Amino acid sequence: MFVAVGGQVRRAFKFRFYPTEAQAAELSRTFGCVRKVYNLALQARSEAWTQRRERVGYEATSALLTAWKRTEELAFLAEVSAVPLQQALRHLQTGFTNFFAKRARFPRYKSRKKSRASAEYTRSAFRWRDGVLTLAKMAEPLDIRWSRPLPEGETPSTVTVSRDAAGRWFVSLLCEDPSVTPLPVTDAVVGIDVGLDHLLVLSTGEKIGNPRHERHDRERLIKAQRALCRKQKGSNNRDKARVKVARVHARIVDRRTDNLHKITTRLVRDNQTLVIEDLAVSNMVGNHRLARAINDAGWRQFRQQLEYKARWYGRDVVVVDRWFPSSKLCSACGTLATAMPLHVRTWTCGCGATHDRDVNAARNILAAGLAVSVCGAGVRPQRKPPGGLSATKQKTLRREP
Ligand SMILES: [Zn+2]
Repeated sequence: MFVAVGGQVRRAFKFRFYPTEAQAAELSRTFGCVRKVYNLALQARSEAWTQRRERVGYEATSALLTAWKRTEELAFLAEVSAVPLQQALRHLQTGFTNFFAKRARFPRYKSRKKSRASAEYTRSAFRWRDGVLTLAKMAEPLDIRWSRPLPEGETPSTVTVSRDAAGRWFVSLLCEDPSVTPLPVTDAVVGIDVGLDHLLVLSTGEKIGNPRHERHDRERLIKAQRALCRKQKGSNNRDKARVKVARVHARIVDRRTDNLHKITTRLVRDNQTLVIEDLAVSNMVGNHRLARAINDAGWRQFRQQLEYKARWYGRDVVVVDRWFPSSKLCSACGTLATAMPLHVRTWTCGCGATHDRDVNAARNILAAGLAVSVCGAGVRPQRKPPGGLSATKQKTLRREP
């Protein structure tokens, strides 16, 4: 996560921590209230919209919150820190803004079982003194395991506390990081595609595989899930088995994230322009193997990391339309092959060029991306959050052979 402010980069530093019993109880209560407020406000806003086509804004929900706290039924909302509740209303506001701008789906209710439990504290709701963090309504500071140092002398502006399904507690600190500065400009450019057997395939011909432990982790997950199925519903053993599944799953996600960070950092350091395809996983469900590979690789996460690191280091990410026929087009002569079934791994074009299917696709993606950059008449492609290029640029591309 990052926020760019006047050239300074703010980034989130996430650590594990171990709450005391009192802290765990206070936080659990706060998580519950955050979820309650979010869901109540969502309900109020949805009803206003579906029944009366009325937009209820943040201010109105904030006034509702004050009223709820005064009712007997919801008086418990006044017992936790008010800041995380206000932040929940702000997050909901962002959700609606994105929905109305057609960037996101309609906000969904938070469920106790499925949603990540979290609470966000802004500056007025925590104390920070020489690396010691104390949250509102708590006597003792959090016992944080500092796995890496925070930028020296920086005070976090926002603190987010969360608990995952495996029962692990995390605190994420949003800080300015003066060490992030643009890298020297380079001439190197790269096209990146999702391979069939590889995590990523580059236009340079390099193929980046899935991490070796991925398969082993997956087998452990299946084993844990089977064990869970055998346990009786509502039993203590079932709860234990559920935590076990969550732990294995959390480990898979952590390792995958680490791996992606290594790859995206390297790609962004080495290249000035990085071109990727705008993949929509839902369009690929027709091919389970492919959908699975993309899912596993966490394409969305990959793209997000690539985009924010590019912003940090002064690089450009260009996103080309997903309907671009990258596999069928000869990257040497531009002839379009009629069909390219998934089992075809290498093919020879009429012009005599023999292609590795994936590398050829990555080269086409690169060429398409560079064409878009040039269309901008020397103007760098705009760096945008997911959604990528403007619709016009994508349409222009679509019409090309
Ligand atoms: Zn050709």
